[in-house]
Amino acid sequence: MNNLSAHAVTAYIGLGSNLESPVAQIKSARLAINALDNVKELAFSSLYASTPMGPQDQPDYVNAVMAVETGLPPLDLLHALQAIELEHGRVRGVQRWGARTLDLDLLLYGDHQIESPELIVPHKGIAERAFVLYPLSECVSDLVVPGFGRLSDLVTNCPLAGLRRLNEYESAS
Ligand code: AMP
Repeated sequence: MNNLSAHAVTAYIGLGSNLESPVAQIKSARLAINALDNVKELAFSSLYASTPMGPQDQPDYVNAVMAVETGLPPLDLLHALQAIELEHGRVRGVQRWGARTLDLDLLLYGDHQIESPELIVPHKGIAERAFVLYPLSECVSDLVVPGFGRLSDLVTNCPLAGLRRLNEYESAS
């Protein structure tokens, strides 16, 4: 919602789903994030298909990255994202890297580096995950990922490893 406080920062959110109509889950999550008070969408990447990390006996994922401007403090934003996951039928704590209706990760929060029991920013996997780096680089031409270096260098050094951009037909389903 376009109701930003004076101290807004740009944050990047990773979206993923591999259950119950993943494309619809991602689109619904985008709407829900846009409906948050103090959050305004700046950019939304293409949708991508990726092979699962961890257990392989689960469907491929659909992934995207969203850039937002927000006046929410980082923990408040994380909690709002977790509430949206729950609204989308996310069941927590079943299996690490197991199938999920919706996964929302706070990838970056301005140039902040945060290490608390609940929140680590930049997100721990950011530098080696193709399904994060490629859509992220669609949202921003280049940036420095605090502690990891230039996004363009991270992308260059990250193999696609099965990542595929969905075509128009697949993205509409
Ligand atoms: P996951 O199962 O991958 O969604 O992980 C969720 C857990 O990771 C929660 O307990 C969060 O508190 C924690 N977490 C730490 N850093 C982050 C982050 N940057 N984005 C989302 N969850 C995070």
